[in-house]
Amino acid sequence: MADTIHWADVIAEDMLKKNGKHFVAAGITSSGSIHIGNIREVVTADAVYRAILDRGADADFIIIVDNCDPLHKVHPFLPESYAEHIGKPISEVPCPCGNCTNYAEHFLKLFLEALKRIDINPRVYRTDEMYRTGRYNEAIKIALINRDAIAKILEDVLGKDIAEDWSPFDPICNECGRITSTKVTSFNLEAETVDYVCACGNSGTVSMAGGGKLAWRVDRPARWAVLGVTVEPFGKDHASKGGSYDAEKRIVKEIYGHEAPYPVACERIMLEKQGKMPSSKRLVVSASDMLEVMPPEVLRYLIIRTKPEKRIQLDPGQLLLTLVDEYERLRTQFREKDPSLGIFERRIYELSRLTSICQSEIPFKQMATIYQVARGDFERILKIVKRSGFSTENEKCIKELTDNVSKWLEIYAPPFVKFNVKEKVPVHAATLSELQKAFLSAFAALIETRGKISGEVKISGKEYHMLVYSAKEDGSELNRRMGEKLNTQVPPKMDYRDLFKAIYISILGQSSGPKAGWFLSSFEKEFLVKRFEEASTYSPEKR
Ligand SMILES: [Zn+2]
Ligand SMILES: [Zn+2]
Repeated sequence: MADTIHWADVIAEDMLKKNGKHFVAAGITSSGSIHIGNIREVVTADAVYRAILDRGADADFIIIVDNCDPLHKVHPFLPESYAEHIGKPISEVPCPCGNCTNYAEHFLKLFLEALKRIDINPRVYRTDEMYRTGRYNEAIKIALINRDAIAKILEDVLGKDIAEDWSPFDPICNECGRITSTKVTSFNLEAETVDYVCACGNSGTVSMAGGGKLAWRVDRPARWAVLGVTVEPFGKDHASKGGSYDAEKRIVKEIYGHEAPYPVACERIMLEKQGKMPSSKRLVVSASDMLEVMPPEVLRYLIIRTKPEKRIQLDPGQLLLTLVDEYERLRTQFREKDPSLGIFERRIYELSRLTSICQSEIPFKQMATIYQVARGDFERILKIVKRSGFSTENEKCIKELTDNVSKWLEIYAPPFVKFNVKEKVPVHAATLSELQKAFLSAFAALIETRGKISGEVKISGKEYHMLVYSAKEDGSELNRRMGEKLNTQVPPKMDYRDLFKAIYISILGQSSGPKAGWFLSSFEKEFLVKRFEEASTYSPEKR
């Protein structure tokens, strides 16, 4: 890899050329489930924030929630009765579940929980509160006074006419509650009020503090100025030439006299199921959905290892597994202070890892095996985790990983990862060769005696693995026992694959399965002994 310095460090270095405190911001709209792409902007901002702090500079991380946006339509998940709320700010629309303060909070709650899980704890500003408390009053006055200059900028950049009656301020009608159907008729700077007429027939006066909001493309420059934002990643869609970012950049500078934040344009995250699903059918997934199937540090890793301007394409099935493997390898290298770990990769890990919450030691793939062996029963999972040599001290972390794995298996896991432990010896055992039967029988005996001799009840995954491989070793216990069963020398050309196949067939009734070491160590010894003995003497008539 040609990169030697991480992109977050590049941005931080650039920003530190200016003195003073840095305000890293990310904006979100909680008008529905918050999309995975929004998480990218927030994680990108967080990486820059951490990189600035790592340099000893002073910084704040803020998230601005646009909760004054109007409700645009009755979304499919809403009852018909929501038609009456169209055009009202979402902070004034009732929550669909009935348990949250308002519609915006309903979606925001899940998003903020998701942020906590990925170790992001920003200061959260809600725009309705900021307006209500008067923090925007000055910015509103400046916008109203400079209405013509702003209209000119919008016309210049966007290349279309701005209506004669356009105002940079949208009042909320006192009568119908809509923010989309009012027109400003005049304003009073001293009283800090705005007069309006509404399409509903009503006319009246509202306070600048909470009686409305700045129009689209004026609101953001105003908040940059009000909060002193110095860097704010945004979706690349906004960044196109002649797009809203260009207009906002000029408005903040020419109208508010504030330098535009350092621009970081983020490409989208595309979730695609490869294989049978047509590529036009993209999976739209919210940030919280994604965290149901993906360990939080892996989601961070996905975003942090990629430059913001590069598109991320993710197949949540098999490629997620590859991604998790990569992350876990990096984690091991980092913990074991592997000298082959480069500075750049080390930095990716540092920026991806969770510092304040638990991270599980158990590999995701192994948990997928454990989960299926235990048939999802958490008590049994804990037992297996312990048997597999992991600590069970932090049950909460294990539960989180279990939940991830369970959802992933249900929704995305490719078929080759899934299996089902058969209650009895499966009929497929009828296909076992004499050699395979001899192996199973000898293997069962060996597993049984192993515990008796050493007194050690547990056989680790690695030991199981080595045991299978000892089959070909001349003079090994397993080789000798197999020879006895076969009444002959064990054929030297025996294929290991046949031995593994015998294991999977007798337990799962299929010829392949998860990594044998992990797999076998997930079971109780007694189960394996009994099952392998039965399979080795299996004949269809006896059933
Ligand atoms: Zn709710
Ligand atoms: Zn009205």
